[in-house]
Amino acid sequence: MNKEFKNFDTLAIHGGYESLKHSGSLTPPLYQTSTFTFETAEQGENRFAGTEEGYIYSRLGNPTVKVLEDRIAVLEGGEAGLAFGSGMAAVSAVLLGLTKTGDHILCSKGLYGCTFGLLEMMEEKYNIIHDFSDMSTEEDILQKIKPATKVIYVETPINPTMKLIDLQMVVKVAKQHNIVVVVDNTFSSPYLQQPIMLGCDIVIHSATKYIGGHGDVIAGLVVGKQDFINELAMTTKKDIGGIISPFDAWLLIRGLKTLSVRMDRHCRNAKEIAQLLKEHQNVSEIYYPGDPDNPDYAIAQKQMSQSGGLISFTIKGTKKDAQKLMNDLKLIKIAVSLGDTETLIQHPATMTHAVVPEESRQEMGITDNLIRLSVGLEAWEDIWNDLEQALKKVR
Ligand SMILES: *Cc1c(COP(=O)(O)O)cnc(C)c1O
Repeated sequence: MNKEFKNFDTLAIHGGYESLKHSGSLTPPLYQTSTFTFETAEQGENRFAGTEEGYIYSRLGNPTVKVLEDRIAVLEGGEAGLAFGSGMAAVSAVLLGLTKTGDHILCSKGLYGCTFGLLEMMEEKYNIIHDFSDMSTEEDILQKIKPATKVIYVETPINPTMKLIDLQMVVKVAKQHNIVVVVDNTFSSPYLQQPIMLGCDIVIHSATKYIGGHGDVIAGLVVGKQDFINELAMTTKKDIGGIISPFDAWLLIRGLKTLSVRMDRHCRNAKEIAQLLKEHQNVSEIYYPGDPDNPDYAIAQKQMSQSGGLISFTIKGTKKDAQKLMNDLKLIKIAVSLGDTETLIQHPATMTHAVVPEESRQEMGITDNLIRLSVGLEAWEDIWNDLEQALKKVR
């Protein structure tokens, strides 16, 4: 694409694709094929030797997938992208790609549950150890850095308590110690937050969420330097093999085209709902980066362009009351995942964070009366009316 058009909204539609190189197809074609034919045996030899560019077999690369990879790289402001069959395939490919036995990973306190499980497995099986830090100050991070620390792994906003981490502060400390900074940017999407532009090295997405946006794909994406992406492509992607299907890549290309339009609406709806929740007599606390009373509000203002579509809140009541509230809803669906067109509600203590030991849950603020809402694209008035009628019934 012509390099002079650099706006996010434009790149989300045109980035990484030239229709005239694909028979003029306006929409990137779906190359639903497992393998690619060679003109001659010698061409096959050259492709395997890497002396000639071209496709070989779809686990190693596919033209539809390549459009997606180039597009996400442009949108995150990184050099190159790589697509995977799930967010967890992306997370595991990156973490296994960056570390070896004896290395240490420093993580933000509060991680996606399966990332936590992966780290436990890596420690148990391969002696790749990890620690957690609040990362609220440089000292917090410095205290936990060891000579063996290779990676700082951060989620911000953190699920489900919406705590934020100052990415520029993390980068500053990491650079002094030659540590790679990896950010799981799923909750923000590249439209709201671009960690690479803030100095971070690698970005990961569960594309299942806002990037797909319609609740019909499970997929993951990685963006980083070209050398690192090449290495991942030839190691943990090729040999562990958690690749994306061409059709799922095609759906994500379509999802990305409307990302900014959808995110604007998710964010606006969430802002309205957060304000009303905050004022409701049966709600005790809201956790939302756009709330001026949120202790991390200043960080949100600094590194996110808007506050996102997720809100967590506690009700004045018990676990039973939280479950009753959810059961009383008529429009809002009870489901995990997030970033879909439909508004989704879930109970972290018994669902997404049920595997976290009770004590850590309490420490992380995941109490039994905490509820997480992924605000969808319906009319916010209808979302609120549904919540309000159910909230009214809380004792
Ligand atoms: C959902 C999610 C993942 C895992 O992604 P899958 O696509 O479900 O494998 C990782 N990180 C975060 C923050 C997520 O929300």
